[in-house]
Amino acid sequence: MKDSRCPTGKWRYRDRIAALLALAAVDTTKPKRRETRAYRCPHCRGWHLTSQRRRR
Ligand SMILES: [Zn+2]
Repeated sequence: MKDSRCPTGKWRYRDRIAALLALAAVDTTKPKRRETRAYRCPHCRGWHLTSQRRRR
């Protein structure tokens, strides 16, 4: 639903499972879709995907 959109403007997933499924469906051959992680958003309490990598 778009009426519960996150203030960050990102697409919001209802739960972790939905986010992970979307993550698995990302076409990694496309440069613009390089999301590698799912994280829970503190603003909307939903889940988003991010391409940011954590440094070790
Ligand atoms: Zn959010």
